[in-house]
Amino acid sequence: MFPVSHCPTCKHPIALRDNVPVLSFLLLRGKCRYCSARIPTRVPIIEAGTAVLFAVAVAKFGLSVEAAVILVSIGLLLVIAIIDLDTQYILYILVAPGTIIALAPFPWGPGSEWSIGEAYI
Ligand SMILES: [Zn+2]
Repeated sequence: MFPVSHCPTCKHPIALRDNVPVLSFLLLRGKCRYCSARIPTRVPIIEAGTAVLFAVAVAKFGLSVEAAVILVSIGLLLVIAIIDLDTQYILYILVAPGTIIALAPFPWGPGSEWSIGEAYI
């Protein structure tokens, strides 16, 4: 079982109603419901940025396997980038499965639209 989201200050679990991307931040005025600790401004920015990236990917590839792989890749890359910014560590446990997920459905080779050196990407 995954650990539930919680406030890093008071450790209180975050209820589903307080965990809606961007909207909950705005409704709670950027503070924890239980201890009033400030929620970093980067949280809604990252959430909104993720939504934009997801929307662009779905607009480009439609509801398809390719889009699903790209959405998972975007999510993993964002997590990797944020952890890297905070800690200067890039966690292999995230990179390894991300690489497999990203490359498995798109074998590179002749005729592949994802081949390096061609402008089809
Ligand atoms: Zn709190």
